[in-house]
Amino acid sequence: MSAQSGRRRGVVTGAGSGIGKAVVRRLLREGGEVLAVDLRGEAIAEFAGPQCQVLAADVTDAEARKRIEDWADGADWLVNSAGIVMVRPIFEVTVEDWRRVQTVNAEATFFLCQKIGPRMKPGGAIVNLSSSSAKYATTVEVAAYAASKTTILSITRSFAYALASRPVRVNAILPGIVDTPMQDAVREGVAPMRGISLGEWDTVRTKSVPLARAASPDECAGLIWFLLSEESGYMTGQAINFTGGLVTW
Ligand code: NAD
Repeated sequence: MSAQSGRRRGVVTGAGSGIGKAVVRRLLREGGEVLAVDLRGEAIAEFAGPQCQVLAADVTDAEARKRIEDWADGADWLVNSAGIVMVRPIFEVTVEDWRRVQTVNAEATFFLCQKIGPRMKPGGAIVNLSSSSAKYATTVEVAAYAASKTTILSITRSFAYALASRPVRVNAILPGIVDTPMQDAVREGVAPMRGISLGEWDTVRTKSVPLARAASPDECAGLIWFLLSEESGYMTGQAINFTGGLVTW
């Protein structure tokens, strides 16, 4: 697989689950070539084939990032979807918790943008996964996660500015509730902390969303595809809510 094939090419991190997995499927469907990256090799093995190379790698590891960066030379797309959530009462978050969440969610995103952005094809685009929690503290049990996702908004603005002359566009999306394993982890972590059942938590969460449902990973991948494609060619440095109306600013 190489840039010589003439296909558009892109990297997706966190490709082994949820939103990242849906993005890989969408890019392949759009005829692109993909480097699918995830910590868990078994979760991306299904994608290996002529259009898709898989890389079991930790995005917090600089050596692993170098391999991603080399593949991405001349690439059209970068989607930073790898992320972790840590469910902890805010007064019990430790320095180690804080650092781990920042390192995976924010630091890796920063350095992938820094190294890959200047090597991307002019006209390329980056999408970073922030979260509605960057704006809206309904789930205080994920405060360290929310802080990392707020950092991603700043990272996105800075690289949008720094890469605009290339031009490479950089945007962030802020999902609210997308039906993925991460969302299950939040649900299963937060409900017992609040002393409510999973059913009660689901009711509270769903009622908070004007559209009264979670989004599917495929719907989220649709927005990401829009931000990668020429259809959004005049958009950069933006933070796009994807929350069923939960956040409107
Ligand atoms: P998920 O947990 O289903 O998938 C995340 C993937 O990232 C997993 O396959 C995991 O193995 C991988 N990963 C984690 N740490 C990694 C590392 N160090 N190196 C490489 N891969 C790593 O999560 P998701 O729900 O698909 O979320 C994707 C992104 O969207 C995350 O950044 C998340 O914070 C964000 N987000 C999700 C929601 C939601 O409701 N699901 C809401 C807001 C934001």
